[in-house]
Amino acid sequence: MTDALDRNLQKAEGYLARFRDGVLGHFIGGRHVAGSSGEVFDNLSPIDGSVINRVAAGNEADVAAAAEAAEAAFPAWRALSGDKRRAILHRVADLIEARAEEIAFVESMDTGQAIRFMSKAATRGADNYRFFADRAPAARNGLSLPADDHVNYTVRQPIGPVGVITPWNTPFMLSTWKIAPALAAGCTVVHKPAEWSPLTAMLLAEIMNEAGVPEGVVNLVNGLGERAGRSLTEHPAIKAVAFVGESSTGSAIMVQGAPTLKRVHFELGGKNPVIVFDDASLDRALDAVIFMIYSLNGERCTSSSRLLVQRSIYDSFVSRVAERAARIKVGHPLDPTTEIGPLVHRRHLDKVMSYCEIARADGAEIRVGGSRDGLPAEGNYFPATLFANAGNDMRIAQQEIFGPVLTAVPFDDEAEAVKLANDVPYGLAGYLWTADVGRANRIALALDAGMVWVNSENNRHLPTPFGGMKASGIGRDGGDYSFDFYMETKNICLALDRHRVPGLGV
Ligand code: NAD
Repeated sequence: MTDALDRNLQKAEGYLARFRDGVLGHFIGGRHVAGSSGEVFDNLSPIDGSVINRVAAGNEADVAAAAEAAEAAFPAWRALSGDKRRAILHRVADLIEARAEEIAFVESMDTGQAIRFMSKAATRGADNYRFFADRAPAARNGLSLPADDHVNYTVRQPIGPVGVITPWNTPFMLSTWKIAPALAAGCTVVHKPAEWSPLTAMLLAEIMNEAGVPEGVVNLVNGLGERAGRSLTEHPAIKAVAFVGESSTGSAIMVQGAPTLKRVHFELGGKNPVIVFDDASLDRALDAVIFMIYSLNGERCTSSSRLLVQRSIYDSFVSRVAERAARIKVGHPLDPTTEIGPLVHRRHLDKVMSYCEIARADGAEIRVGGSRDGLPAEGNYFPATLFANAGNDMRIAQQEIFGPVLTAVPFDDEAEAVKLANDVPYGLAGYLWTADVGRANRIALALDAGMVWVNSENNRHLPTPFGGMKASGIGRDGGDYSFDFYMETKNICLALDRHRVPGLGV
């Protein structure tokens, strides 16, 4: 063990100590609350499978208490001026930054994500709060749409209490990405974090409370998706559900929310292509390809998990990817030199590993990785893996694996590149490497993807729309797009008192 890892582990233990004993409950109406049923589940360490802590398995009664608290808090929060909401949300950002190290260490230990990436989790989260805080005063927006005898103007008003359901891959950042715009819009929130990584959601709830977010404006219910998540999507007080997770869960939520006509916003799975042409700046493309699949354990919705390479450079480019992938360092998430940490859960590791068998069965080559030999058996460690000589119709090219696993497929020309890129059920992101500006534009327009990056890895800019097409989602977040989801647009029509009102029975 290196000195740096040893120091980090001691710090992490300090931060985790509060969770070790007792049961992590809910946060409802501005208070820590125990689960009503006493049922709990174990939160397991990705590093060695030990129990980090026990968590309350929220049920219908817990969700109802949270939804009622959010409903009761809504009128006052909605009525607060945008300036006051802005000030409170900036305080949240300040407190997130003040607890950045704690958030990073707890998130790393809970998810297995390497500390080199999680050290930015708090900064990204704070940025989300500041960005939406500054837009709170103008969120009500408005258009003037005059007619001859009437003045029409529109306003946006918060939709009401909303449910936020988040996944386990980068839970802190994703929670802030949903909760910050909801609060800026004037909505109240019930948050159900993922059962495999529940810890930092509680830190966020406490931070918001300390920053002055009033009681009941944000509530947190822990629990399993099928019970706590389901009942949140069914509760009549909840007017909309912002969900990040798997496509199949999105379908289930749509069904669950149908009787109460829930508005839904879905950020779902992806099988994103990175297309590399032979005229591209290949050194930069290589760095981006490696980064976008092997960072964050490959557990990243916008990962470029399908590498489409022009045939003329396929062998040489894929060899360079293989060389680099083989050198990527797998290790303890708190080791500053670690590039890939353990995957979040044993069940997820089994799923990722199963694709090695599938790759062989479908006739692809496992060029790098694919085996846990030499890695600590008790943790969910899995190395950077590269499948080569694959066809786009193989399951390894069609299905989201959500691990550090890249599938490389050759193509001949622009038309084939577009065809292969679009020939999957998903449509979240696309990455494109070429020096030809005309071709870049043509392909960007032709891709079935909510977001296209040309000659770049994923670089987020918060005013831009984020979201996917096809099985990758419904709706967009970012900038003003988020407010369209969390708010209702109302038209107000004022007569100038000079038009003829039709008279019946006169
Ligand atoms: P998941 O769908 O299994 O779970 C996500 C959340 O939904 C969890 O909190 C879970 O408890 C809850 N849930 C499960 N069943 C539910 C139900 N019936 N009703 C209500 N809630 C329910 O997803 P996951 O495995 O936690 O996360 C990985 C997935 O998330 C991947 O598919 C990934 O691509 C996707 N993701 C997408 C984005 C994006 O922006 N598009 C970002 C991150 C992750």
